[in-house]
Amino acid sequence: MAETETKLKPSLLLLARNLAIGAMAAAGGYYMVQTSEIVVVILGAGLLLVGPVMVLMPLFMGLPARGVCPQCGGTIETMSRDDRNLLCRGCDSYLDAGQGKLRRSDPNRVEAEPSFAAPSPWSDITLVVYPTVAFSASDKIQDWLTTKKGGVRVMEARWPQQCVVCGAKPARFDEMARQIAKPGNVMDTEIVVAAKGIPYCGAHKEGVVFERIDSATPGASGCFGLKFRSLTYRNAFMSANPWRFTWHQ
Ligand SMILES: [Zn+2]
Ligand SMILES: [Zn+2]
Repeated sequence: MAETETKLKPSLLLLARNLAIGAMAAAGGYYMVQTSEIVVVILGAGLLLVGPVMVLMPLFMGLPARGVCPQCGGTIETMSRDDRNLLCRGCDSYLDAGQGKLRRSDPNRVEAEPSFAAPSPWSDITLVVYPTVAFSASDKIQDWLTTKKGGVRVMEARWPQQCVVCGAKPARFDEMARQIAKPGNVMDTEIVVAAKGIPYCGAHKEGVVFERIDSATPGASGCFGLKFRSLTYRNAFMSANPWRFTWHQ
């Protein structure tokens, strides 16, 4: 039974858990930066930064909280008192936390960075790591497609015919790609994922990326998909394409 808003309860238990995770991350990071493996050092430095942030955040941002999704009734956990764009794994809705309540995010919201997740067609790609950053250079994509280097996958998507950022009439169509690594038992598989025909108006670009996706539902592992700047476009894209998040498998 869908409701307009639900109560959000601050949780000392969640705080204790976050503090423990933060402390472990910082301690792990401290040891990792002292090794000689560069990848381990980089990961360790990340943990060293994340750990104290997790410990200090409640001082500025309020206690983490727990509530139920107003759309489907599933459990939602927030990192702080005020939190935006929380994805519910139960119903794929976006929610905001604030003033002790959980509400649906404004469906017309457009963020400065891609924030709203949609599934990819590739149900075998779940956990990913990124050897490189995302790029949107069409010559590079063409190069990959013609040389057939490694596993290149081009997404066959239906793109609602409006700018992915502002919804205006499209003036051009972009491509984008990202090199990812799919962890395997023995070694990682490198894959290039690409999308073509992404509609944009004359003013916008980079409104969608391939990205790792997390939800605010506890116990959820991440998955892989797309992230849009526009929640309206994300919802239209999900209606136009039949794919589901891999955590539903
Ligand atoms: Zn829900
Ligand atoms: Zn636009």
